Amino acid sequence: MNTALENGIETLKDQIDARVVSYLSSCVQCGICAEACHFYTSTKDPRYTPINKVEPLRKVWVQTHTFWGKLATSLGLRKPMSEGDLANWEELAYDGCTVCSRCSMVCPMGIDIAYMIRKVKEGLAAAGFVPKELQEAGKRALEFGSPMGLTAKSLHSAVTEQENEYGYKIPVDVEGADYLCLLSSNEVVSYPEFIGSLAKIFSQAKVSWTLSSEYFEATNSGVQMGNSKIAAELSGRVLAVAEKLKVKSVISPECGHAYTTIRWDAPNFLQRKLPFSVVHVTELLDQLREQGRIKIKQRFSDRVTYHDPCNISRRGGVINQPRNLISMIAADFKEMDDHGNMNWCCGGGGGVSANERADGLRQKAFNIKARQIRKTHADNIITSCSVCRMTLEEGLENKEMTQNVLGITEFIAMHME
Ligand code: SF4
Ligand code: SF4
Repeated sequence: MNTALENGIETLKDQIDARVVSYLSSCVQCGICAEACHFYTSTKDPRYTPINKVEPLRKVWVQTHTFWGKLATSLGLRKPMSEGDLANWEELAYDGCTVCSRCSMVCPMGIDIAYMIRKVKEGLAAAGFVPKELQEAGKRALEFGSPMGLTAKSLHSAVTEQENEYGYKIPVDVEGADYLCLLSSNEVVSYPEFIGSLAKIFSQAKVSWTLSSEYFEATNSGVQMGNSKIAAELSGRVLAVAEKLKVKSVISPECGHAYTTIRWDAPNFLQRKLPFSVVHVTELLDQLREQGRIKIKQRFSDRVTYHDPCNISRRGGVINQPRNLISMIAADFKEMDDHGNMNWCCGGGGGVSANERADGLRQKAFNIKARQIRKTHADNIITSCSVCRMTLEEGLENKEMTQNVLGITEFIAMHME
């Protein structure tokens, strides 16, 4: 057995905890999870059945933890895991899963399938079966502090541009501010208006905040790859900069996995309690709305709908806050038919949008989102994750649909006094 395969199998063995054992033992193979998955529903390919995506983990569990599995393996009746198995599951776990957790919501046995898919990725990553774009993003994140290779200079030019555009001072490296706002590199490059919009809102609402030029990245390539060591290293950099600036809270920006990572996973990666609270930007904006600190110029009359980012709504529980904010502005807010914690994923999360090999599959999966959007007859789609925003924009363009996609922070800033 070669070393890479051995590493993969040993890592999969290490991933087997009490939850995994109880999940794998209780699956009744009913297949209900299939219809909840956008990759299965849009292709009808049984390989994309959610529980099938954890097969490498199940195989290792059967061979090492069950009586019949151990016996069959010792008698040579069971085929050992091969490199070919891992190569096949690389495509299923990285291209055919956004770790959106919709399947986990419908399983009658309460199995958190996404939890196990995340563990499968750890095994695949240890064996080197990770899409090249994610591997490269991980390297850049470690070297430059940004998966896109951005530096402090890139941040400073985006800040200057936004100060000129919006006319508000954007604080950088302010020690003792109440909030440190993280940014995703995608926002800095593709949607820098998030920064200018935030400056406008925070200036009116008198929020004490800062950005950090030393480490601003909210996304975590280790999580996307399934490499806990990299995930811990990058989470540690957020912790270090927040401690250095002595902030009370960290704001997770419009990025899905960044929020669940810094809020819930980081303490586990770092094996310590974080010395600050974490809020998603929409949670904070909704608090400001409640306190009457956001004043709206006039209501927006065009029809608006909201796309729930999976990590923020289903996995993060931030469901009402964006709706409160949109309803404050939009006179005609129309929900999609499946929304909130049963929303359909845009198809770009979990690193899928960065993985070129998955483009065709992602576009197929987008059919569900496009159908949902058409049914609302809304001209404007608001969301609160820049990866969702990019995936929506690209998917709509491919389908020659003309809806306007906006980040929620920008939508609020546009309609303020
Ligand atoms: S829905 Fe649950 S019990 Fe049924 S096949 Fe999927 S994981 Fe197994
Ligand atoms: S987590 Fe989402 S994408 Fe992955 S298998 Fe489940 S429903 Fe499909």
